[in-house]
Amino acid sequence: MMRRSLPGTLARQFEEIFEDAPDIVLANDGDGWVLAANRAAREFVGYTAEDLRRGVHLRQILAPQDFEVAMGLVRRALDGERIFPVGEREVELRDGSRRFIEVRSSVLRRRGRPFALLTIGRDITEKREAAEFQESLVEVSRALLTAPRLEVVGRVLCTAAGRILRVDGAYLWVREGDDLALIAAAGWGAEHVVGQRRAIADSTIGDIYRASDVLVVHDLAHSLYADSDWAVLGVQAMLAVPLRREGPPLGVLVFADRNPRGFTRVLRDRAVIFATQLTVAVEAALAREREEEEGKVSAALLRVGNAMRSSLREDELVVQIARSARDEGACDWAVVGMWNPRANRFEVVAAEGWRGETLAELGLLGLRPNPEGPSPGVLEKVLRCETVELPSAPRGFEAFFARWQVASCLVVPMHRGGRVVGLLALGYRQRTGPFSPRERRIAEGVAAQAAVAVENARLVEDLRRANRLKTEFVSTMSHELRTPLSAILGYAELMRAGAMGALTEDQAQALDRVLLNGAALLELIDTTLDVSRLEAGRATVAASHFALDSVVAELREELGARCPPQVALEWPPEGALPALTTDRPKLKAILRNLVDNALKFTSVGKVSVEAEYDSERDWVRFVVRDTGIGIPAHALESIFEMFQQVGRSLPSSRQGVGLGLYVVRRFTELLGGKVSVESAPGRGSVFIVELPRQAPAR
Ligand code: ADP
Repeated sequence: MMRRSLPGTLARQFEEIFEDAPDIVLANDGDGWVLAANRAAREFVGYTAEDLRRGVHLRQILAPQDFEVAMGLVRRALDGERIFPVGEREVELRDGSRRFIEVRSSVLRRRGRPFALLTIGRDITEKREAAEFQESLVEVSRALLTAPRLEVVGRVLCTAAGRILRVDGAYLWVREGDDLALIAAAGWGAEHVVGQRRAIADSTIGDIYRASDVLVVHDLAHSLYADSDWAVLGVQAMLAVPLRREGPPLGVLVFADRNPRGFTRVLRDRAVIFATQLTVAVEAALAREREEEEGKVSAALLRVGNAMRSSLREDELVVQIARSARDEGACDWAVVGMWNPRANRFEVVAAEGWRGETLAELGLLGLRPNPEGPSPGVLEKVLRCETVELPSAPRGFEAFFARWQVASCLVVPMHRGGRVVGLLALGYRQRTGPFSPRERRIAEGVAAQAAVAVENARLVEDLRRANRLKTEFVSTMSHELRTPLSAILGYAELMRAGAMGALTEDQAQALDRVLLNGAALLELIDTTLDVSRLEAGRATVAASHFALDSVVAELREELGARCPPQVALEWPPEGALPALTTDRPKLKAILRNLVDNALKFTSVGKVSVEAEYDSERDWVRFVVRDTGIGIPAHALESIFEMFQQVGRSLPSSRQGVGLGLYVVRRFTELLGGKVSVESAPGRGSVFIVELPRQAPAR
């Protein structure tokens, strides 16, 4: 038999020097037979001294690819070639596991002839694994930064973890409500298990989640879990790490192996590090999902708000509410009921996604809070501003629900400051089960906006009604006042003219007062009538064809008497403008008001009216200029508003009420033109009215 050991003295020397060395020391011949191995080497590869004596070949120790390389090197070294003596080898141990050693080899010579290779090696498995672990952490961090979804990060992490921990499979369970969902996996069976869910309260993984601690099972068959579904799947060893955070864990990371095995301290620590990484990833992903969810809900409610702003009428609004609720809530139907406190019931005013006849039935029934009604207690709760969820038909009401094709519904109060104005119900025809937080938030958001919108619509309607009443009242009153006042003025004029006998000086003066004040009152009533017509939207343009000169003649007559003694009043020359086609009374009122104001606020100097024609645009332009007290800059905008006056420096008979310029502006606009003013205190005022020569058709 061939000698498979070192020659005598060398063998002794080998044993003396190397037997207790911490490094692996091994000698082999050119055919690959192991000639000597110290204790460290024997323990490492798992062969006894006895095995060695019987013969152990390098083929049994090295991985196949490394064996070939190693043998090549051995032969070349023994042929006297200088080989690079340091390297790394992957070694397959007798138990099938693999390790890495760093080796340094030298040639043993006998009588000058190389005959064996002496290799000193060091186990660097831990070092290499630590480096690999670091690398995979980097890889995982990169995935964390770039992967958009938790499933993707989870898969990368499970793959890396499985490789590093050398387990058959890695599985990531994440908590979703009362369940755990297996959202990512790598390795053994991964493609079949992803997507599974288990109730936390009632499953093996749920137990592990609730224990919320690292769990190591070396040999499942002989553990607490011998009868669990894991055993059925063929799992024999398991390492589970909770995804820790403050409060309950976010989930569990599970490693499973098909063979019983020990999980060393190092492996456990690494598993915990992976779990920490995953916790960060899961938290970030959940935050991102929440944000997206939040964004979606906000966008939906914004759309609802916009849709509701489009109308201020309650009947249109409720239809919009039902439509928004159904569209944004993505459900099958939505119904709006308004609370009628006098009838003590909700009246169905709008519905989307209901069949006509069931809706008629519902409308007929009305929704009366009534313990005997179709949904006991629901409406009472709604009236207490509570949202009610019916994930399925309440017991005893299955027939009702079936007839109405309601499988599940959510009933949300529409309330403002605790006062319920109505309800919004939405739901599904077939889907049963609870409504998601998102569905509830959208429904409640729609209802909240709807309550405000309905209240606004009602306020606006009240205001409109009040305004209509006021306008009608003012216009009726003005008419009623005008008739007797005209009679008073008529008789006073007759008396003043002496038609009823001669007057004393005192009587004549008194009648002048009556006439002056009466005229002022009549003007005020006329203006009030104008304004109430404008407010009621009843002012129309009645265009006629006329010459400005005729208007000027009348105004000269009416206003001449009001001209203070030290003021010169100038009118445009005859024929200043071509004939106009517009509303004559309105144009006259515009000019009268402007000239009257100019005369009121001017005590010395001049008031002039100019008229120009712009043939290019076919527009006319009136300029009323005075040398009076002027208007401060801050008041220039507001004087055109109703009831706006600058100070009160006039005798009461000349005092207006602040409607004149308002009428001027509204009439000018009605005739298709615009009015402007330039003025400064003490420097007089200039009012400019520009109009198309022909009033636009309305
Ligand atoms: P009023 O009935 O008070 O004249 P107006 O609407 O005609 O109401 O005018 C509003 C206010 O504008 C007047 O009270 C006055 O303060 C100011 N105003 C109008 N025209 C003139 C003017 N030509 N010169 C100075 N102030 C004027």
